[in-house]
Amino acid sequence: MNEKTLTLRYSSSNNTDKLRVTDAGLLKKAREAAEKAYAPYSAFRVGAAVRLSNGEIVIGSNQENAAYPSGLCAERVALFAASSMYPDSVIEAVAVTIDTDDRRVIEPVSPCGACRQVLAEYEHRQKKKIRVIFSGETGKTIVVDGMENLLPLTFTAANLK
Ligand SMILES: [Zn+2]
Repeated sequence: MNEKTLTLRYSSSNNTDKLRVTDAGLLKKAREAAEKAYAPYSAFRVGAAVRLSNGEIVIGSNQENAAYPSGLCAERVALFAASSMYPDSVIEAVAVTIDTDDRRVIEPVSPCGACRQVLAEYEHRQKKKIRVIFSGETGKTIVVDGMENLLPLTFTAANLK
């Protein structure tokens, strides 16, 4: 066996003023979306905002359910809505953040594995990288260009052939 090393690239900043204006604007939309989450069980309200090449921004928030697995993450709510409404538009960027009641989350909340897989699928479909911006309620923001930095060695449609 040959041992290999993967390098993941991302940038981070503790100051939202240092973000690109478009990234900061998308993160603001994600914060607004988080406030609309339906998260009565976790009180961990996640918001996502998807920026499309047609200029539209589609938001999503996590939707929980008493039958827990029936709920869905904010990222997939937003991505599926965006792809349903604008199937021919390129997904340029996705911002993700959270809102809680009783604590301040200072660490960036990154997309879960299932959402990463969905992001990777859309990236392969559109053949253009997706920029992912994520933060906690305060503190550091992380920016990643391209899903190879969040989900390397991805399972894709090519694996089905
Ligand atoms: Zn998720």
